[in-house]
Amino acid sequence: MTRTKDRYDVCIIGSGPNGLSAASLLAQSGLSILVLEAKSKLGGGMRTEELTLPGFLHDVCSGAHPMGILSPFFKTLPLEKFGLKWKEPPISVAHPLDEEPSVLLTQSIEETAEGLGIDGSSYQKLISPFVNNSPHFWEDVLAPIHIPKDPFSFVRFGLTGIRSAKGLAGSRFKEKRAKALFAGLASHSILPLESPLTAALGLVFAVSAHQKSWPVVEGGSENLAKALVAYLNTMGVEFQTNTRITSIAELPQTKVVIFDTDPLQLASLTESHLPGLYRKRLERFRFGPGVFKMDWALDRAIPWKDPKCLSASTIHLGGTMEEIAKAEADVWKGKHPDRPYVLLVQQSLFDPSRAPNGKHTGYAYCHVPNGSRIDLTEVIEKQIERFAPGFSKTILARHSMYTADFERYNPNYVGGAITGGAADLTQAFFRPVARLNPYSTPNPHLYICSASTPPGGGVHGMCGFYAAKTVLKRIDKLKSLKFT
Ligand SMILES: Cc1cc2nc3c(=O)[nH]c(=O)nc-3n(C[C@H](O)[C@H](O)[C@H](O)COP(=O)(O)OP(=O)(O)OC[C@H]3O[C@@H](n4cnc5c(N)ncnc54)[C@H](O)[C@@H]3O)c2cc1C
Repeated sequence: MTRTKDRYDVCIIGSGPNGLSAASLLAQSGLSILVLEAKSKLGGGMRTEELTLPGFLHDVCSGAHPMGILSPFFKTLPLEKFGLKWKEPPISVAHPLDEEPSVLLTQSIEETAEGLGIDGSSYQKLISPFVNNSPHFWEDVLAPIHIPKDPFSFVRFGLTGIRSAKGLAGSRFKEKRAKALFAGLASHSILPLESPLTAALGLVFAVSAHQKSWPVVEGGSENLAKALVAYLNTMGVEFQTNTRITSIAELPQTKVVIFDTDPLQLASLTESHLPGLYRKRLERFRFGPGVFKMDWALDRAIPWKDPKCLSASTIHLGGTMEEIAKAEADVWKGKHPDRPYVLLVQQSLFDPSRAPNGKHTGYAYCHVPNGSRIDLTEVIEKQIERFAPGFSKTILARHSMYTADFERYNPNYVGGAITGGAADLTQAFFRPVARLNPYSTPNPHLYICSASTPPGGGVHGMCGFYAAKTVLKRIDKLKSLKFT
């Protein structure tokens, strides 16, 4: 994959879901585009490798795709035609608890509510308005600050979601089952559950599951990247792999550069092309905790105490809301919890192509302090054993990734942070810095489209879509401007 020209309308540094989405929208408008990627494979967070044993396919980064299947931009692309197949499980999330059946998040609100005992009707009241009466929910949520398409529903979402997950769950639910489910969902935020806005993440993930079961990609997450690339090939987009850009001076002639990178690289690669004050603000960006991840080749499926867990793509391990909240708060204090919140995905149960006949794969990670060097193999496996006794006997081989491994793998994962940076009250909306248009920079030729822009982390491509929209609005003017 090498470039053929000396001059392009747009160069995109990085081929993650946002870089490829930006390329898609820009190519649809007939612009000439070069995507430059540091690794030998395209795809950023959408890659799959035999990390353990031959024949076992492991998603290196993203594993389950609630935002991918619902992404308003991906939905407009002919990705199925280019090989993408979502594999939807019967249950999105199972949340095991000690000594009682797991809490199950299914596509049916009623069925999910039934499993929540006396909190079932409160859950229905909380979630239903966003599932049933909000046709533009995803366009409004997966977007930068804008005038909402469903103003009434969006204001309702904002007023509820601005609260902390612990506060909202405490005020709406009486028993541990609903509280635990909500805490597990909200913990995808990688924020302490006492923080404002964590309720929004709990709501977003609950709503997503009631619209589409959280899928895995047939053949591995990399097949989503391959479908995007195949589509881009039809429009003449060019790719150059094995090319880590260390300065924009290395780029061919171009009118626009879009960075699918973290804000620190935007600052360092652009040197004098951006004013010092703006670069200082980029350098102050906060990344938040990192992750420690494990992948296993398994002799058989995970022996969950509650066999219903075998119908869920994603398992939230951590027990009650109080336990999960303590674990997540500890991580922010620089501690490694003994019983962490573990996010586990079991792709091979729904996609047999991931492992040899009868065998399985396992994927799990927990949050750790940014830059952590601690080996959490035993801690994670113990947390799984708690709800699946005998798990360790199913392990044929294991692979682990520390925070430094993630940063080496992809420089965007600063200190092992996997979602583009802390999405707390200020950085959720104003990322990478507070600016009317967050994708633009003070230099009209330079843009950023990574998960460090709104709406933030996850494989949905919406950051790339909005960055490309910004470029399209300005491209005619830019064509007549000299790049400075
Ligand atoms: C362990 C883990 C689990 C995750 N789980 C999920 C999940 O289940 N579901 C989900 O939706 N999301 C998940 N995510 C998050 C998701 O993968 C990211 O939010 C998403 O990939 C961000 O997309 P992006 O386009 O902004 O950047 P990235 O996907 O990070 O891609 C950026 C690309 O740019 C390249 N690059 C960076 N700097 C340079 C440079 N200087 N020169 C050239 N190339 C460069 C990188 O090599 C990379 O390929 C997970 C992430 C990780 C790490």
